[in-house]
Amino acid sequence: MPLTLSEVEHRMKMVFEKNRLATFTSWHFNDKSKCNAKKVSTTYIIHILLIMITLAEAGFYYVGTANEQDEVQCFICCTVFQKWNKNDDPWQEHIALSEECEFAKLATPEQMLTLNQFDQLFRNSIKKHCTQYIEGLLEHKKKLCAQQCEILRNIVNDKKE
Ligand SMILES: [Zn+2]
Repeated sequence: MPLTLSEVEHRMKMVFEKNRLATFTSWHFNDKSKCNAKKVSTTYIIHILLIMITLAEAGFYYVGTANEQDEVQCFICCTVFQKWNKNDDPWQEHIALSEECEFAKLATPEQMLTLNQFDQLFRNSIKKHCTQYIEGLLEHKKKLCAQQCEILRNIVNDKKE
């Protein structure tokens, strides 16, 4: 599925930790969930908030749905993670499941990055998402051209008969 331009813009905003953290406001809670805010104690809610802060710090933003309530995605490697356990460390899980991720390899929260490190991450994120968008557009154009060629071929063949 090709990326849309608004998805590219959204992903580019996710380079910033504060934007990643803001996505967790749409965390899904339902009656079957252990994380139902209406049922749980203040202590549990604080625990969940701390998990969200740690997830955002470790490069993740929220992409969950009603079916995949704890699904998050990395802003740079785009790997999707879900089914978090109570004692999971987001940084350790990140590098374990995406060992080539340049942010996970740095293992450094945003406020501790050097300007050069942040600049490199930002540039690579833009390059990656824009390339993916352009490749998607080209693939779509190729399919359209193939369909139009087929239509023209059929018209020509019809005229010959
Ligand atoms: Zn990553």
